[in-house]
Amino acid sequence: MALKICITNRHLVENDFLDRIKEILEYGIDILILREKDLPEQEYEYLAKNVIELCSRYDTECMLHSYIKTALRLNHPYIHLTFDDFIKLSVEEKSFFRKIGVSIHSVSEAVTCCQKGASYITAGHIFETSCKPGIEPRGLDFLRNTVNSVSIPVYALGGITPANMHKCIGNGAAGVCMMSSYMKGDLYEKYSRQMLASKIGIIGQNRLRKARVLVAGAGGLGSPVLQYLAGAGIGTVGIVDKDIVSISNIHRQVIHSLDSIGMNKAESAKKYISSLNPEINVNTYPFFITKDNAEELIAQYDFIIDCVDNFETEFILNDTCVHLHKPFCYGGVIKGHGQVMTYVPGKGPCYRCIYEEPPLPGEVPTSEEAGILGPAAGVIGSIQAMEAIKYFTGAGELLTGKMMIIDLLTLNMRIAKFPKANPNCKTCSESYAQ
Ligand SMILES: [Zn+2]
Repeated sequence: MALKICITNRHLVENDFLDRIKEILEYGIDILILREKDLPEQEYEYLAKNVIELCSRYDTECMLHSYIKTALRLNHPYIHLTFDDFIKLSVEEKSFFRKIGVSIHSVSEAVTCCQKGASYITAGHIFETSCKPGIEPRGLDFLRNTVNSVSIPVYALGGITPANMHKCIGNGAAGVCMMSSYMKGDLYEKYSRQMLASKIGIIGQNRLRKARVLVAGAGGLGSPVLQYLAGAGIGTVGIVDKDIVSISNIHRQVIHSLDSIGMNKAESAKKYISSLNPEINVNTYPFFITKDNAEELIAQYDFIIDCVDNFETEFILNDTCVHLHKPFCYGGVIKGHGQVMTYVPGKGPCYRCIYEEPPLPGEVPTSEEAGILGPAAGVIGSIQAMEAIKYFTGAGELLTGKMMIIDLLTLNMRIAKFPKANPNCKTCSESYAQ
């Protein structure tokens, strides 16, 4: 996640101060810098006590800004300093602090901080900022030079927006630091239309942000799935695919481009996601799912989306998800036909309840043999992404106990109902027996 740090600025000294901090922490940041300049020490101490307590509940580190004496008095070993204050720190003070952040404004200051034991630095004025109008931004070259000159994490600061975050990461920043005034609602602007939709709201949006989704296959189905999951702000996305992008993929696998030919599909998809929504954690697994690795991989995620194109893997995914009590959404597409179904533990049948065993080789044609129309994969993949969003937010109705079957050529669509698990299903009966 690109947004690692939030730095508070004075507007926070309002009645709803702690509520505002809570909102920011809800967003999920690693570090909060409590910078409330010019407050009497007692007042700052009162704020700091409350904010430190709140941060501990969210697993966020609270750095006190400048108030060294307050930090010592509260026995709180996390401080963020201006460069001048950092240089003046006594040896005793320095040995007390476990983590020291420093705001720097030149490469030489950065190098000094690194030599003198700072834990991280924030490099200021990267972009033009509305907080200090008229100050010439230092730009991405400055950021890159700073990163290349030190061995500690460098966070970009100044004029950071959801739109320019990824440029900072692309230039080596460990993350970005945003002003709390900016986070006052604006960060959610990106998801505002989605939050207006039924049952999503800020609570639903936070659930999506905390969600971990594994997408098996970054091909025809995986492309729209990943595009919409990234757009929706799913916090962590895993992509597993060993394939490399080839010219015959592009017509339907629209997450890849001609530039990605020869590249691993998981890596190529990550490249797309990082530019669409840099806040998202993306884990790539450039291998195929097998019986040996499925369990370890699936165990790390909350929802699995099956976008693979072979029956053997489909059954491995199904059996592992049922065994681990993980919900998943199956999707399949060939020519212009598609199918989708969602499995939620304890609710309705699994994939094996319906298909029982993989077909014999040659019995059902593959997409290589029968062909596939790009938009058909687009429709089915979009429904799979929608199922994940519905699962996490509670909006609408899931395709559990139901399989949607559609022919995009005739637009005939039906929903086949399978209200109960198949009593002869090997997977469910084994799983239920446990
Ligand atoms: Zn079953």
